[in-house]
Amino acid sequence: MTPREALKKHWGYDAFHPLQEEAITAALSGRDCLVVLPTGGGKSVCFQVPAACSDGLVVVISPLIALMDDQVAGAREAGISAGAMHQNLDAAQKREVRQALEDGSLRLLYLSPERLVLGDLSVAIQKRLRLVAIDEAHCISHWGHDFRPEYRQIADILASWKRVPVMALTATATPQVQDDIVAQLRLPDPLRLVGSIDRPNLTFRALPRDQPLEQMLAVIQRHPGEGGIVYAQTRKAVEQFADKLKAKGVDARAYHAGLDATLRSRTVADFTAERLQVVVATVAFGMGIDRSNVRFVIHAALPRSVEHYQQESGRAGRDGEPAECVLLWGGQDFATWRFLARQENSDPVRMRGMERQLAAIGRYASAPICRHTLLSDHFGQELAVPADGCGACDVCLEETAALPVDEALLTAKKLLSAVWRTGNRFGSGHVSKVLRGVDDEQIKRWGHGQLSVFGLMKDAHDTQLRRWIDQLIAQGHLVVDDGEYPTLALSEAGYALCKGAGEVRLDAPAPPRERKRKTKRGAAAVAVAAPADASLFERLRTLRKQLAEKAGLPPYVIATDAGLRAVCELKPKSVEALALCHGWGEKRAARYGAQVIALVVAP
Ligand code: ADP
Ligand code: ZN
Repeated sequence: MTPREALKKHWGYDAFHPLQEEAITAALSGRDCLVVLPTGGGKSVCFQVPAACSDGLVVVISPLIALMDDQVAGAREAGISAGAMHQNLDAAQKREVRQALEDGSLRLLYLSPERLVLGDLSVAIQKRLRLVAIDEAHCISHWGHDFRPEYRQIADILASWKRVPVMALTATATPQVQDDIVAQLRLPDPLRLVGSIDRPNLTFRALPRDQPLEQMLAVIQRHPGEGGIVYAQTRKAVEQFADKLKAKGVDARAYHAGLDATLRSRTVADFTAERLQVVVATVAFGMGIDRSNVRFVIHAALPRSVEHYQQESGRAGRDGEPAECVLLWGGQDFATWRFLARQENSDPVRMRGMERQLAAIGRYASAPICRHTLLSDHFGQELAVPADGCGACDVCLEETAALPVDEALLTAKKLLSAVWRTGNRFGSGHVSKVLRGVDDEQIKRWGHGQLSVFGLMKDAHDTQLRRWIDQLIAQGHLVVDDGEYPTLALSEAGYALCKGAGEVRLDAPAPPRERKRKTKRGAAAVAVAAPADASLFERLRTLRKQLAEKAGLPPYVIATDAGLRAVCELKPKSVEALALCHGWGEKRAARYGAQVIALVVAP
C-alpha cells in the first residue's frame, strides 16, 4: 500500500497536508527528520501512515498520558493496531499490548519517556522496529516552553538500540529550539521540514474591551451548541465571568487551580465529552485538553506574551476546521501583569524579559495590522497575504480600520502632550476630559482649563480617546502606574514620538457596525460555514455523542466535525459510500455505517 492509499483507506482523506508526504517518505526511506508543523497541521498522520503501510513497528514517545490514550483510540478507530504502555493501565490492558508486541501484530506503540527509560520492552520492540517518532519534541529543550528532564534520556536509549530513522515533531517555531532538538537527539543530518506557523483556519480578532460580557456573548452566540474556552487573568475574574455567563443562560463553568481537584477533573471530562459548552478558566486549563473541535477561544484580558497567546488561542480548531480566536484587551492589563510579576519574582532580568514580551503582545493587540501577518512576523516568518487581505482577521475583514499613518502620528502627539502637560500624573479619564474640553470640578481644581491642550480634540468621543490611550500604552508610548492609581506617564518612546522619531498605529473611530462588512473567501471569514443540512448535522452530533459515551471515548475520536459535515453534503447511502467520505475510512464506516446511514435515509 502506498502512503496515499493508506491515507484514504484508514482516514478517508484524499490529499496530504503540506510536508506530511515528505516526512512519511523520509521515514520510509530511512532518513531522520525534524517536522515542525502548527497545531492542526496533521503531525500524527506523519508517523501513523508509516505504521499503516509497513509491517514493522512504529514507537511514539509522547509526554502526556491523556493525549496518548486519545491517540491510541484514534488510531484504533482508523483500523491500525495500536497500544500504549504507561502506569495508568490495568494488568489486563498491559498484557494485551505486550502480547501484540511479542506476536508482531502491533503497528503503533506509544510510550512515555519514563517507560522508555525502564528498558524492559527494548528487546521486544527492536525485533520489528521501523521508526521512532518523538512527539512534542520541544520538551527536550531548555529553551522550549515545556522542558521535561525525562526527554533528555531518549538519545541514550536510542543509541543503545539498532539504528532506525527518528522523526522528531513539534509545533514550536523558534530556530533555537529546533537546533536544540536536533543536537539533543544527536541526529547527524536530519531532513528539516519546517511548515508555516500560520493557521489559516483560525479567524483572529483583537478588540478593545469595551463591554466584555456583551463581547463574549456575541462570540458564543456565533457558535451555538459548540465548545469554547474563555481565558481570564485571575481566579476572581474567572469566577465572575463564569457567573455572569451562566446568568445569561450560557452552559459555562469556572476552572482554576484554586478549585477542588475532583471538580476540576470533572470539568475537563465534561468538556471533552461535549457535556459542557464553555469553560471559563485561567491558563491552568490547557495542558491535556485534547478536544479537537474547540470552535472558539476568547481572552478576556491580554495574555503574557505572543508565545502564550499562540499556544492558548491555538487550542481552537485543532481539527483544522474554521474556528475563532478573540482577544479582548485594555491598557490596564499591562499594569496587572506587572503587578502579578512583581509578586512572583522581581528579579530585574526577568522583569526586563517580561517588558519585552508585553511590548510584543501589546503591539499585536493594538496595531490595526493583519493579525495573521503580525503573528507570523513575530516568529520570524513571512506570510504571503493576498492584496485584499487574509480574509480571517478583524483588520482584513474591515471590522477594525486604521488611521492613515500621518493622522495617527498627529493624533498620538495630541494625546501624549495632554499627558505631559498635565504632569504625567493623571489617569485616562482625566486626560480625556482635558482633550475634550470638559470643564468640571476636577479640571477647575487643577487649573487644567488653562492648558493649551484643553479642548484640543473637542469632537472626539470619550470611548475613542480611551481606546487610543490604550493603544499608546500597548505600543509602549505611555506607561500606566501599577500602584494605587492607574496614572499615565510618557515613556522614552513617547517623548521620542513627540519629536517625530518612531512610529505609531491607531485605529479609526467609526463604530464597526456602520462599516460595510466585506464577505471574503477564506472559509474562516465569520464563523464556521453552516453544514449543508443543519438538522442532519445535529442528529449526527447526537449520535456521535451516544457512540462516544458507549465506547468511553471522546466524541471527536469517533468522528471529526469535518467528517459529519461531509456526510451532510454527500448523504452516503451505503457503507462503501461512507468509507469514501472525508474523514471516515473503511474501519470507521464498517463500525458505525449502519447507524449513520439510518440517519441519512430517515425522513
Ligand atoms: P497536530 O498533531 O499537528 O496538531 P493532528 O495530527 O491532530 O494535528 O491533526 C489535526 C486534524 O487534521 C485531525 O483531525 C486529523 O485527522 C486531520 N488531518 C490530518 N492530516 C490530514 C489530511 N491530509 N487531510 C485532512 N485532514 C487531515
Ligand atoms: Zn488579516
